[in-house]
Amino acid sequence: MKTPPTYEQWLKKERLEDFIIKSAHSTRNNKVMRKSTIECINHFSKGKNICNCCGEDNILFLTISHKNNDGWVHRKMVHGSLSDYLVKNNFKTKFEIVIECYNCNLSRERNGGKCPHG
Ligand SMILES: [Zn+2]
Ligand SMILES: [Zn+2]
Repeated sequence: MKTPPTYEQWLKKERLEDFIIKSAHSTRNNKVMRKSTIECINHFSKGKNICNCCGEDNILFLTISHKNNDGWVHRKMVHGSLSDYLVKNNFKTKFEIVIECYNCNLSRERNGGKCPHG
């Protein structure tokens, strides 16, 4: 029987690859974080798995963010999971995607497209 990784294991970056493999076989983890989301974060952060703005490195905070605030257009086009779609298309997209934490992502929207961090 496969055991899902613990929260402590999440926090260790070296376990990320391991986690991606394990979560591929686990439906439980879909509730926590989709495997495709983790793959997207890994791809669009160029393997750094940190927030593009503040450097937050807890993957649970990270989200797929649209640099030009056109994420709503993208989501309308995709129907369903954006990260599943990106993985299926080998991460090819016309949209400019950055990895940001929820803080930076939301505050950027509120601040007219620029995170108050900088
Ligand atoms: Zn951030
Ligand atoms: Zn920020």
